[in-house]
Amino acid sequence: MRRFSAISLFREALGGHETWPRQWRSPEPKPAYDVVIVGGGGHGLATAFYLAERYGLTNVAVVEKGWIGGGNTGRNTTIIRSNYLFDESARLYEHALKLWEGLSQQLNYNVMYSPRGVLMLAHNIHDVQSFKRHVHANRLNGIDNEWLSPQECKEFCPPLNVGGAMRYPILGGALQRRGGTARHDAVAWGYARAADARGVDILENCEVLGIRRAASGRVEGIETSRGFIRAGKIGVVAAGNTSVVMNMAGVRLPLESFPLQALVSEPVKPAFPCVVMSNTIHAYISQSDKGEMVIGAGTDAYTSYSQRGALHIATHTLDAICELVPMFRRLRMLRNWGGIVDVTPDRSPIVAKTPVPGLYVNCGWGTGGFKATPGSGDVFAWTIAKDDPHPINAPFTIERFRDGVMIDEAAAAAVAH
Ligand SMILES: Cc1cc2nc3c(=O)[nH]c(=O)nc-3n(C[C@H](O)[C@H](O)[C@H](O)COP(=O)(O)OP(=O)(O)OC[C@H]3O[C@@H](n4cnc5c(N)ncnc54)[C@H](O)[C@@H]3O)c2cc1C
Repeated sequence: MRRFSAISLFREALGGHETWPRQWRSPEPKPAYDVVIVGGGGHGLATAFYLAERYGLTNVAVVEKGWIGGGNTGRNTTIIRSNYLFDESARLYEHALKLWEGLSQQLNYNVMYSPRGVLMLAHNIHDVQSFKRHVHANRLNGIDNEWLSPQECKEFCPPLNVGGAMRYPILGGALQRRGGTARHDAVAWGYARAADARGVDILENCEVLGIRRAASGRVEGIETSRGFIRAGKIGVVAAGNTSVVMNMAGVRLPLESFPLQALVSEPVKPAFPCVVMSNTIHAYISQSDKGEMVIGAGTDAYTSYSQRGALHIATHTLDAICELVPMFRRLRMLRNWGGIVDVTPDRSPIVAKTPVPGLYVNCGWGTGGFKATPGSGDVFAWTIAKDDPHPINAPFTIERFRDGVMIDEAAAAAVAH
């Protein structure tokens, strides 16, 4: 005898379906956002802006654990240049430099880009040969860079000590006149305001704690300190913390995180006309519009997630600055701080798709990613929108470390602000 239960009767009424008809089943959950960007620094905000501006993707959120620009974007010494040695890097940084030139107009926000010239000093024969090689390679790539004698260095930057009494005398310098500085927090605010005006949501004080993946492996969304946020695609741009965030999705990256510090002097009247960099004695200096001397120190010797560097690194840099520019001996230092930079084995960035469908990563800018902010955001937005790398960032894959196709700016530049 056939037994009827309420359920079987109901199924019969449905026409013998074992499960609910498709149209009655609850629909697949829709992503709350088409794209979520993890990290509200300059790169993340620029990515969101270009996603909206160039690809019409406005259902986008930028999720930031602190406040926007509170990471390396607001902590760096703002040196902008594109005179990198290898073709791949030169293309990437020159793309960024061209965007810097029109950025204030594009964002309708003054980012105070100031092409006052970046002078990279040579102190020994190796430096001279290496920088001359850079000058020639840059010119072949259509990038301005010129060689100056010690006297020409002095004319371009009068406070420099070009006397022979220095421990590491100045033997010349490579000058990129289009290089310079910009105001770091204005870059974050300018991109944030322009992205917000196009519909992007910016969620501050919202830390990403996990990345949820579906059975298919594809990303589903992020677990945050404020709850779960569903996402169609996720772009991770969390400098210094990238490996922590990517581990949440089961992706391991060849990254190490180091503290890198900078300091500023008390403000003085305009005294220093350009940006001067010295890799050999490890010192970087420029004067901000407020009058402070902005000085970059080196990375700590040990890996750490602490946003402060060792004191001896800063004092070493001050020794070097005082030898380069003796009149600065009388300046008092106002404050110093640190950021966390993540570096790859070849000191070039990763801007790429990952093995996880829907997950993209932009990291490894080390000590030199501020200058790349507009270009990085632009090509990363392309990569996310099209699920395919832009020709400019195509070489900057994760797989290059497996395949040995390095872009070895580490060997080329030693230091890369
Ligand atoms: C002292 C110093 C000097 C430098 N000098 C120069 C220079 O002169 N020129 C140059 O080109 N570059 C320089 N750099 C490097 C440059 O600052 C960085 O490469 C660049 O700013 C990186 O930008 P970003 O947007 O990727 O990172 P950030 O601005 O650090 O943004 C990443 C954001 O991710 C957030 N985040 C991290 N984890 C999470 C999480 N779990 N959930 C949510 N959010 C998270 C962070 O809070 C942070 O705001 C310097 C860096 C430092 C520290």
